[in-house]
Amino acid sequence: MSADSLAAKAVPTGRGKRRWHPGDLGTVVYAIVASCTVLAVLSVPLQGYSLNLLMQASTYAIAVLGLTIVLGYTGQINLAQAAFFGLGAYSVALGTTTLSLSFWLAAILGIGIAALAGAILGLTSLRLGGHYLAMVTISFQMIATLILTNWIAVTHGPDGVPGIARPTLLGLSLAEGTRYLAFCIGILCIVGYWVYRLRMMRLGRAMQAVRDNELAAGVTGVNTYQTKVLAFTLSAALGGLGGGLFAGGFTYISPDQFSFSESVVFLTMALLGGARSPFGTAFGTGLLILLPEWLRFLKVIYLAVYGAAVILIMVFMPEGIWGFVNRFWQKFYPPPLRVLDGLAPLPLTLKKGEPDGSVILEVSALSKHFGGLKAVDQVDLKIAHNTVHALIGPNGSGKSTLLNVLSGIYRSSGGHIVLSGRDVSALPPHRRAAAGMGRTFQNIRLFGAMSILDNVKVGAERPGNTLASGAKALDSHALAALEFVGLAERADESVGSLSYGHQRHVEIARALAGNPALLLLDEPGAGLNHIEKDALVLLLQRLKGHGLTILIIDHDMNLVEQVADHITVLNFGRRIADGKPIDVLHDPQVIAAYLGEEAAHGTA
Ligand code: ADP
Ligand code: MG
Repeated sequence: MSADSLAAKAVPTGRGKRRWHPGDLGTVVYAIVASCTVLAVLSVPLQGYSLNLLMQASTYAIAVLGLTIVLGYTGQINLAQAAFFGLGAYSVALGTTTLSLSFWLAAILGIGIAALAGAILGLTSLRLGGHYLAMVTISFQMIATLILTNWIAVTHGPDGVPGIARPTLLGLSLAEGTRYLAFCIGILCIVGYWVYRLRMMRLGRAMQAVRDNELAAGVTGVNTYQTKVLAFTLSAALGGLGGGLFAGGFTYISPDQFSFSESVVFLTMALLGGARSPFGTAFGTGLLILLPEWLRFLKVIYLAVYGAAVILIMVFMPEGIWGFVNRFWQKFYPPPLRVLDGLAPLPLTLKKGEPDGSVILEVSALSKHFGGLKAVDQVDLKIAHNTVHALIGPNGSGKSTLLNVLSGIYRSSGGHIVLSGRDVSALPPHRRAAAGMGRTFQNIRLFGAMSILDNVKVGAERPGNTLASGAKALDSHALAALEFVGLAERADESVGSLSYGHQRHVEIARALAGNPALLLLDEPGAGLNHIEKDALVLLLQRLKGHGLTILIIDHDMNLVEQVADHITVLNFGRRIADGKPIDVLHDPQVIAAYLGEEAAHGTA
C-alpha cells in the first residue's frame, strides 16, 4: 500500500472509535486507591512484625523506584542503590541524633547528598557504560560500606545509630508506628505517580530513547550523556529519600543494612516485578519482602523454594511479572486506532526563505580513516537548498561512513563540515541535530520498546524545533508527521508491530518531525520489496515537492533517477564524479565503478 493511500485511509471512517483505554481513568482511580490505602493503614491497628514488614516494603519500594528510572527507563546498571539508601538513612540518623537537626532538614540533606554522590558517580563513569559502569557502582558501594563500618567517630561503626527521631507533620506527630507507615505509603504513592508520569515527559522519553538506541537518540537531538547523568542523579535521590524514611521507620540503623548484598536485593526487586514500570518495581519489592514470610511454613527448605521461585520468574518472565502481564494485556487489548478529526497537516517550513541554489552544507576535504583504511578520503561536497542530492557508489565505497561523519557519530580524520554557514565539525551528534541535521539509518534504528508516536515525539523534541512547543502542540505535530507518512492511525501501537517498510516510514517521520534544515537518508530503500519501494519513491517525491533539502544515499539507480537533482559518486572513499544526474550517470568512470572496466568500455 502506498503512503498516500494509507494517508487517505487515515481519515476517520467511524470504525476507529476510541474504546475505553486503561490510561483514561487511570489517574483518578490511582488517586482514589492511594488515598484509601493511606486511610486503611491509619485505621487498622498494625503492630510489631507486620508493621515492620510494611515499613520496610514501603521505604524499599521508594529506593527501587529509583532503579525504574536508571535501569528500567534509561537502561543503565546501578549496583549501588543500597549505598544511596544508606546515605539518606545515615543523614537522618546522624542529623537527628548527633547534630540535633529536624527530621525534615536531615532528610532533605540526605536526599541532596545521595543525589550529589549519584551525579558525581554518573559524571565520572557514564561515558564508560556497560561492564565498567557495573564495576564502578560496585566499587562505590564497597567504599560506602567500608566508611560506614570503619569511620567509627562519625558513623558509630558496626554498633549503628539508635534513637532516630520521627517527624511532626503540620503539627501532627508521626511518632506512632501506623501513622508513620501511612506517611511513608503516602510518599511512596506520590513518588510512584511521578515516576510513572516521568515516562511521558520529555526527559522520560529521552531516557527511553537512550535505552533503546543510544546512537539514534543522539542524532535525534537527545543529549545522551546528560540524560544518563540525570537518570543516575534522580535514581540516587530516590535512594536517599527511601533511606531517610527507612531510618525514621526503624529508629535504629547499622551498616550491614546498606551492604552490596542489599544492592543486589534492590536490583532483584526491580527485575522481578518489571523494571520498566513503577507498578512492577513496587510489586516486585512487596513480593520479595513478603515471599519469604509466606514460605516460612516450609521450614528448612523455604530458602531453596524461595530461590527457585525467583529464578523461575526471571527465566520465564524476562521483562518481570509486570512486563509479562502487560504483554499479555496488549495482545488481547491492542491499542485502538486513532481517530484523526481536524488534524492539521505537517507544517514543513517550505523554502525556508533561502534562495534556490544557495549552499546549505559545504564539506571540504573530509576524511575518515579506520586504521590504514581510508573509508572517506578528501571528499568535497556542496549541497544546495531545496534540492535532492544523491550520494551513490558501490558497496563499501564510504557512503555510510561519510554520513556518519556528517552527523557526528564518527569524528572526522580531517576536513571541515559547514552547515548553514556554521562550522559543525567538532560538535557532538545532538548539537548537530540542534543545528538542523536530521537523519535515518541504513539499518533501521528505532526506539524499539516505545510506541510509534513516542518515537516520533522524540524527533519532534529536537532542540531548535520551534514548531512543537507545549504538550498539545507536540502531540499534534508528531501525529501530523506520522500522517505525512500514512501511519497516524496506528500511532499508539508499538513500533515492533510494524512491517519493515512501515518502520522505515516511522524513521523518516521521526526525522521530519524535528523540522530539519537538511535531511540525511541512508539507503531508505534497503531491504524493501518492490511495493514498499514504490511507496517510498512516492514519499520521497512528496518531500521533494515540499522543497525539503535532502541528501540521499542509495544504489538503486531507478530510485535515484526519479528523485535526484544532483549526484555525487564515491568509489573507494574518493569522490569520482559530481554533477547533474544526466552527466554523472553517463560518466564512463561511474559506469566502470558500478559495472567493472569491461562493461564500461562496452557501453562507451
Ligand atoms: P557504503 O555505505 O558505501 O557501503 P561504508 O561507509 O559502510 O560503505 O564502508 C566503507 C568502508 O569502511 C568499508 O570498507 C567498511 O568495511 C569500512 N568501515 C565502515 N565502518 C567501519 C568501522 N566502524 N570500522 C572499520 N571499518 C569500517
Ligand atoms: Mg552504507
